[in-house]
Amino acid sequence: MKKEKERVIGFCCNECAYAAADLAGQLGMKYPVNVRIIRTPCSGTTDPLWVLDGLAQGAKGVFVSGCLPDQCHYGDGNVHMEESVVFLRTLLKAIGINPKHIISYLNSAGMPEAFANSTSDFVKDVLSLPTLPDIKSEVKSADKRERFLEILTAYAKATGKIDKLDEKPIPREGFGMITVDEDKCVSCGSCGYLCETDAITKQETKKHRKMYYAHYLCTGCEACVRACPTEAITVNKEIHLKPFLAKENNQFSGSQLVTCSNCADKFATVAILEKIEDQFELIDSEIISLCPACRRDVIGEDFVNLSRYLEAANIKSEEEAK
Ligand code: SF4
Ligand code: SF4
Repeated sequence: MKKEKERVIGFCCNECAYAAADLAGQLGMKYPVNVRIIRTPCSGTTDPLWVLDGLAQGAKGVFVSGCLPDQCHYGDGNVHMEESVVFLRTLLKAIGINPKHIISYLNSAGMPEAFANSTSDFVKDVLSLPTLPDIKSEVKSADKRERFLEILTAYAKATGKIDKLDEKPIPREGFGMITVDEDKCVSCGSCGYLCETDAITKQETKKHRKMYYAHYLCTGCEACVRACPTEAITVNKEIHLKPFLAKENNQFSGSQLVTCSNCADKFATVAILEKIEDQFELIDSEIISLCPACRRDVIGEDFVNLSRYLEAANIKSEEEAK
């Protein structure tokens, strides 16, 4: 009786897996009563968070089922789904959970028996595994990324893996690990300005600007790479569990702010101006001590704008990077 109460969730694509399950029912084929099927438009639309959340909310196992190879009705949704399941199984293993709690299999709509057999075999296997840690009360956030993190963290704590996480990165689209060459970074802030997830942020005091990076928020979109005028950033699409679960917010650069000699507005960092001076030895120091607006007022409309130097030095101001 207890075994029947241990639920197994199945995400089944509308086109094949769900149709196979439906046909199995119509033909009177049996698969365990523990199974609860959730129909999805395409197996590729199954969010990895749903699968993980299924376990976190008390299911003993979760399977995802889609169309046969090369028969996905939407192109390659089944390929993406299988990659997601491999990714989740790798994650589970890394945090001390048996990856066998999650599985994927492919069926055509005309394979009801194969669907019933695969499902029965999975249920049998998964119910024989030890009970998963109960982490339901620790998963609260409605934000997808936060919830994902909460589940991984709760499992890693329950299994004792949290203090001995593997350093090996796990490749995955949708996540990113940035590396900044601090010799090239001029703390211009363009990367943080364009980062929509707040994975890169800047903090300023009256005199100083510091740049920070939070790995767990990065989606690997590479907007920061495109924004960086000095090619200081690279992004690898992968998860490094240790900094990811630690929610670290690391400083990666810092530079003093420069105030305009005319209006006293903060308009650049020392590192930016040093880079310009390095590249243009003859540039008049009076010019670079003025913000763009004052340069025009003080020196005159016809005088070449500093943006020409910035452009030539491959440096964009924060506003220009928009
Ligand atoms: S890759 Fe995208 S999400 Fe990650 S830090 Fe860069 S801009 Fe932000
Ligand atoms: S955009 Fe590049 S130079 Fe500017 S703060 Fe970011 S990493 Fe540094």
